[in-house]
Amino acid sequence: MSYVNMDGILNNARKKKIAVGAFNIVNYLTAKAVVEVAEELDQALILQTSVKTVKAFGINEMMGFLKPIVDNAKVDVAIHLDHSTDVEFTKACIDGGWSSVMYDGSQLPLAENIKNTREIVEYARSRQVTVEGELGAIVGVEDDIYVKEGDSAHANPADCRVFLSETEVNAFAPAIGTAHGVYKGEIKLDYDLFAEINGFSKCPLVLHGGTGLSDEMFHRLIALGASKVNISTAIKIAYCQGMRSFIAANPDKNDPLKLDAFTKDAVKKVVKTHIRFFSQIE
Ligand SMILES: [Zn+2]
Repeated sequence: MSYVNMDGILNNARKKKIAVGAFNIVNYLTAKAVVEVAEELDQALILQTSVKTVKAFGINEMMGFLKPIVDNAKVDVAIHLDHSTDVEFTKACIDGGWSSVMYDGSQLPLAENIKNTREIVEYARSRQVTVEGELGAIVGVEDDIYVKEGDSAHANPADCRVFLSETEVNAFAPAIGTAHGVYKGEIKLDYDLFAEINGFSKCPLVLHGGTGLSDEMFHRLIALGASKVNISTAIKIAYCQGMRSFIAANPDKNDPLKLDAFTKDAVKKVVKTHIRFFSQIE
């Protein structure tokens, strides 16, 4: 029984003051790489899929290759849909076998965000699927959601209280100054805001925009209660750079299996560093 939703793994992480890595995988190879590392380190894992990736494969095709990897895993793994802004698509992924989803209504007025998130929570709950919600704007590009730096709005604690009590989400991502993609300029994080929200939130908190944060930043945020940390850009970079360096070193080889093995190792190295750090493994 290794295929789970996020409830147990995130609440356990919150208790232990560690974080579970949520890695955005893009295909079979990256999914395998991430699961293998979690098994090697004996840590729970969240396999995360962006809407764009799910649409590229199709819901059934994607679950078709992810499910056997997860069913055979030696650790608990959730398959989580990242940043879905479409209520119907989110429900389709729940029907398609995802054990967890994020509905991102952060760009909507608060009342509408609450209404849509609540609708997803009700749909998901009866199917044992967990839901992550977001408030405030996390800057940068994630899928086709683009938030300009100047538009960055930190989550407001009063709104967070209303959102949490009315939606009853299982995990909550408040915007505190992190960004998606590669950071431009100085990173300014509101640690006090994060600590305050964690103080009253019944559910574990999520940190988006993890690529590019320093060890010190991760350390502080995990100590303050970040139980899920999203890593997307670092995986994309490791994957593409892995391929590039194999091809550069072997310009005359046309051996896809060797290329894949090399690339998988490159992804595994990056994932291993993150999981060790999040779980405080020496
Ligand atoms: Zn995000």
